[in-house]
Amino acid sequence: MLRACCLAGKISCASRGQRAAGLASPASRAHTATSRRGILLGTAAAFSRTKRSRAEEAMAPIPTEYLPKLVAFDLDSTLWYPEMYMLSGAPFKKDAKGAVFDRRGEQVELLGASAAILKELATDPKWKDTQVAYVSRTEYPEWAIPCMKLFDIAPGKTMFSLSSYNEIHECSKKYHFKNIHRASGIDYEDMIFFDNERYNCTDCQTLGITCIYTPDGMTSSNWAEGLAKHAQKVAKRS
Ligand SMILES: [Mg+2]
Repeated sequence: MLRACCLAGKISCASRGQRAAGLASPASRAHTATSRRGILLGTAAAFSRTKRSRAEEAMAPIPTEYLPKLVAFDLDSTLWYPEMYMLSGAPFKKDAKGAVFDRRGEQVELLGASAAILKELATDPKWKDTQVAYVSRTEYPEWAIPCMKLFDIAPGKTMFSLSSYNEIHECSKKYHFKNIHRASGIDYEDMIFFDNERYNCTDCQTLGITCIYTPDGMTSSNWAEGLAKHAQKVAKRS
């Protein structure tokens, strides 16, 4: 039985069998995730040492008319780590330094450039007309949402309060985006999406969304690449 279902009134999910296509078994995923932990957290540490990547430094400012109208992020292994299914769950706590922990003291960390990018979205006026969404297939939305509420990303803003749409349930991500499109009225062509699983990118790209694969979690290079790719797309159609 699914731990989470699609929300009432929204587009229904595909079956578990359909979802299974392209997904590894839970045991295999756990093994892969464990071995990736060091890599991902290593990436985060490396980013904090290198404050700006070469891509970021080389990136010219993008005119605001070329920015996406909606920026969507996967959560697990894209914005944060460990993945929700690897944790012991709520209640989550925050210490005096803002670090977030699950009920057994396992820390949930924002990966790479995630914190900097979310802060930019919350504070830079150039993003005032852009909405933020979280698009996750975690089976544990009842953990993900409280966790998001604990991450302070800018004065008066949490990771949760930054977003306009939270599609956090077990479906093909195309269904997540169909819900967002229906609720927001934003064209798929005006959306950008970052995800650490290639099949999610491939899937959502068929809708017309600019999708960026983030195998090492969210980095400034991914961010710069995504914005540039989206700007090129807008320039071509205008
Ligand atoms: Mg993920």
